[in-house]
Amino acid sequence: MWFTVIRNVICPPSTIVYRTLKSGRPRVRFAPSPTGYLHLGGLRTALYNYLFAKSREGTFILRIEDTDQTRKVDGSIEALVKDLEWAGIEYEEGPGKGGCGPYVQSERLDIYQEYITKLLKNGTAYRCFCTERRLNILRRDAVKSQRVPKYDNRCRNLTNEDIKKKLTAGTPCCIRFKLTSDVQAFEDMIYGGIAYDVSLNEGDPVLMKSDGFPTYHFANVVDDHLMGVTHVLRGVEWQISTTKHLLIYRAFGWMPPQFGHLPLIVNSDGTKLSKRQCDVRVEDYRRNGIFPLALVNYITLSGGGFDHIPGAGVRLKTMDELAQEFQIRKISSHPTRNNPDLLEECNRLEIKRQMKDEELSQELINKLQNLISQKYRGQNLNVSNDHIKGVLNWALSRMTRIEDLVSNKFGFLWILPASDQQELDKELLEKLLINLESLESFDQSTLKDHLKQFSQSHNVKFPQLMKMLRAALSGLNEGPGVAEMMQLLGKGQSLERIKAVVR
Ligand code: GLU
Repeated sequence: MWFTVIRNVICPPSTIVYRTLKSGRPRVRFAPSPTGYLHLGGLRTALYNYLFAKSREGTFILRIEDTDQTRKVDGSIEALVKDLEWAGIEYEEGPGKGGCGPYVQSERLDIYQEYITKLLKNGTAYRCFCTERRLNILRRDAVKSQRVPKYDNRCRNLTNEDIKKKLTAGTPCCIRFKLTSDVQAFEDMIYGGIAYDVSLNEGDPVLMKSDGFPTYHFANVVDDHLMGVTHVLRGVEWQISTTKHLLIYRAFGWMPPQFGHLPLIVNSDGTKLSKRQCDVRVEDYRRNGIFPLALVNYITLSGGGFDHIPGAGVRLKTMDELAQEFQIRKISSHPTRNNPDLLEECNRLEIKRQMKDEELSQELINKLQNLISQKYRGQNLNVSNDHIKGVLNWALSRMTRIEDLVSNKFGFLWILPASDQQELDKELLEKLLINLESLESFDQSTLKDHLKQFSQSHNVKFPQLMKMLRAALSGLNEGPGVAEMMQLLGKGQSLERIKAVVR
């Protein structure tokens, strides 16, 4: 690592005067690059910005940062918007909405031209005509002699005449920012005081590339200013860039917004989470049966930002409740550990919540009906509302996702057994039927005791009775124990299935 960010410095109160809120209401933005899928870290950034805005009646903006056209992935903006919508994160301004647009950076190129001219004029930026070849040689030499590879700022010293000549000759150029060596200390809303001297480790950075596209740093600063952004909440990987951004703000004579950086999300064992891991894509959570409110609560439970009463257990909050209770200073600066068990717990709670609501529970029933019909197409099924509802209620504290109920283990719940099974002792099953009809409680342990007694009093071996019952109830080899299966099917459905084979 070549750079050192000094954390927890005491910032003198006069270090930076932050942009004040004209309306008293914050304006924040989520500024993803359309380079692929929205992953868990991106969703967290969007969510915390959204909650911050919502908690203070502010505005949440979506801005697409596509200045690096080589990394752009087709369809990713649409996918991103879909994922945000799914998660319940609504933007008031963004592509197609709001008055500070366009909100896609590649549509703002003339704006960046206008603003780069200002920096060229006030002498804080300059044209650089160095060729890619020269820059590569500089890099190679630095690596060879174990120095930090950085641009040597040669074009800073070109005379006006030199510049004119090169421009007339049509020599391609980029525009660089003159870094100064004064340390820009700032108060990070999450990490506290931060200081870092950019010029120690970097040559003058490019603001505008030779193809007329701005770099991330330049476009980001210009847009945050023009869009009236008051607070920047973003991943900690950008913290190193903030001091550079502050220098650009100063070069324009603008007041910067306040900055807060969200810590890394890491695996449960503390190792680095890779974007490439499928399980961090929001789309995969959705496909795997995780509900949006469960994911949103999970993020806030692991990342902080709320008063947490130790031992109070997990309680799901609505988006409104989350916004009301959100406190930025409670966001933890420690890396957030992924905790799959906590996510599962949140999803279970969400299914419970939905089952209590008439409309939502019907949606769950429909969802399960569709899943079952798809999986067991062409088979004789029981997917009646009542049956599904009964099973869902039973399964509430046992399952994590609705999809669990269509695993092979639970096939017996939905597939009706054949009614023409010859080898069954119908007389015995008829007696058992009468016997079971009188049974008041239909829970697993009562059933087990009862079936044991029945096998003794009717002189039939218990395993034999169980085999027969399993055939009558499901006709399948897979599934839980017979008593558990009967409890799951419920009294009505169990007796009906036995009746179907004996009568
Ligand atoms: N475009 C950057 C990203 O992809 C945004 C960084 C920022 O929020 O300033 O994460």
